[in-house]
Amino acid sequence: MAVSESDDAEIRRRAEDFLRGEVPAGWPELAPDELIPVAKRFQAALHDAGLAGITWPAEYGGQGGTAAQERAFREQAAGYELPTGPFVIGMGMCGPTLLDLGTEVQKNRYVRPLLRGEEIWCQLFSEPGAGSDVASLQTRAVRDGGEWVISGQKVWTSGAQHADFGAVLARTDPDVPKHAGLTMFVIDMHAAGVAVRPLRDMTGGAPFNEVYFDEVRLPADAVLGEVGQGWAAAVTMLGHERVSLGGSVRRRDEPLGSANLAGIARAKGISADPSVRAGLAALHAKERALALFNTRLSQEAAAGAPPGARGSVAKLAGATLLWDALHAAGEIAGTDAVAWDPDDAAAEELSTAINSVPASSIAGGTNQVQRNIIGDRLLGLPKEPQVDKDVPFRELRVGTQRETS
Ligand SMILES: Cc1cc2nc3c(=O)[nH]c(=O)nc-3n(C[C@H](O)[C@H](O)[C@H](O)COP(=O)(O)OP(=O)(O)OC[C@H]3O[C@@H](n4cnc5c(N)ncnc54)[C@H](O)[C@@H]3O)c2cc1C
Repeated sequence: MAVSESDDAEIRRRAEDFLRGEVPAGWPELAPDELIPVAKRFQAALHDAGLAGITWPAEYGGQGGTAAQERAFREQAAGYELPTGPFVIGMGMCGPTLLDLGTEVQKNRYVRPLLRGEEIWCQLFSEPGAGSDVASLQTRAVRDGGEWVISGQKVWTSGAQHADFGAVLARTDPDVPKHAGLTMFVIDMHAAGVAVRPLRDMTGGAPFNEVYFDEVRLPADAVLGEVGQGWAAAVTMLGHERVSLGGSVRRRDEPLGSANLAGIARAKGISADPSVRAGLAALHAKERALALFNTRLSQEAAAGAPPGARGSVAKLAGATLLWDALHAAGEIAGTDAVAWDPDDAAAEELSTAINSVPASSIAGGTNQVQRNIIGDRLLGLPKEPQVDKDVPFRELRVGTQRETS
C-alpha cells in the first residue's frame, strides 16, 4: 500500500501497529548466522506493510512518500530494537546510489529485492593501502571481450560474509591520474573467484572482512554509472553513507543515549550530582540538535537537494556525540562499565557499546578526513596540497607499487 502525502499520523499509527506485532522476540540473542533469516523475514514484512523505502520511488518498490513520513516512522521505530542491521549498507548507501546512477535495468533488477530484504549488499571501497585516500586503490578491472575481469583485495568490508551483492570500486585505467581511472561495478558476491575472510574487532564480534577477487568475471552491464567515472560514483555513495551514518535510527533506550544514562544515574543515586546533571543535559541537547539537523538534511534530500559536504557534518557530529556519551557513561556507570555481573545483560550491552565507539570515528571516513572536507568545501579554507593530482596512477608510489619501484 502506497503512503499518502498528507497524513504522518496515519503512518505513525500503522508503524506502531506493525512494530508491536512483528518485531521478533529475543532476536538480539541470536548468533549472526541465525539472525539473517529472521532479519530477512522481518524486512519483507516491513515492506509488505508499506514501511520500507518510504521516500523511494514507487516504480522500484518504494512508497513514494515524503521525508516527514519517513521521520514519523523513524520516531516510532526509535521505541524498538529492530533486526535491520544486515540491511543498513544496502538501504543507506547502495540503494540510494543505484537510484541515482543505475540504469533502468539495474534499478528494476536490484532495488525491490533490496527493500524486501531478499538480497543483502556490501560496500567494497577500502583496501590495505587505500582507506582515507580511497582513490589510490589497486584492485583492477580489465575488459575482456564482453566481460570485465576483477582482481585485487578489499578490507574492512562490513557484512561481506552475508552479502549477495557488493558495490566495488576498481581501477580500469592506470594511465590517467588516480581519480580519473576508476569505475564502480555491481559484483555478485557468490561469483567464482570471490573469497571472504572475517576479521575480529575489539568487541569480540567479526562484523567486517577481508575480500579477495581472483579474476572474477563480470558482465559488461555490471558497471554502475560510467566507465572512468567511479570517483563521482564513490562520492555519491559516500555522501549517502555520511547522511545515513549520521542520521541512523537511534533507539530511544539505547545504551549510550542520555535517557539510559540518566536511568543508571538514578539507580546509582547520583542523579542530583551537579556534574552528572550538567553532563547529561549537554548530551541531551547535542542529541536533539543532531536529530533536528538530520531531519533537515533528509527533508532537503527528499526535495531534491543532496546534502553534499553537510553529510560530513552529520557524520562528524554523530561520531563526536558518541565519544561524549562514552565519557558520560564512564563517569556515571564507573567500574560497572568495564566489569559486570554475567547475568546483567544491560551492563554487558553498555560495555559493548562503549567498545564500539572508537570505530565510529573511523568507519565511513575518519573524523580528521571529515574535518578536511568541512574546512575545504563548507568553510572555504585552503585545500590540502595534492601533489599527485595530475600524475598517471601507474607512476605513483602507493601500496604494492611502492615495493616495485
Ligand atoms: C567498523 C568499520 C567498518 C568499515 N566498513 C567498511 C565497509 O563496509 N566498506 C569499506 O570500503 N570500508 C569500510 N571501512 C573502512 C573505513 O572506511 C576506513 O578504515 C577509513 O576510511 C580509514 O582508512 P584507513 O583505515 O586506511 O586509515 P588511514 O587512511 O591509513 O588513516 C590513518 C590515520 O591518518 C589520518 N589521515 C589520513 N589521511 C589524512 C588527511 N589527509 N588529513 C588528516 N588526517 C589524515 C586518518 O584520519 C587516521 O587517523 C570500515 C571501517 C571500520 C572501522
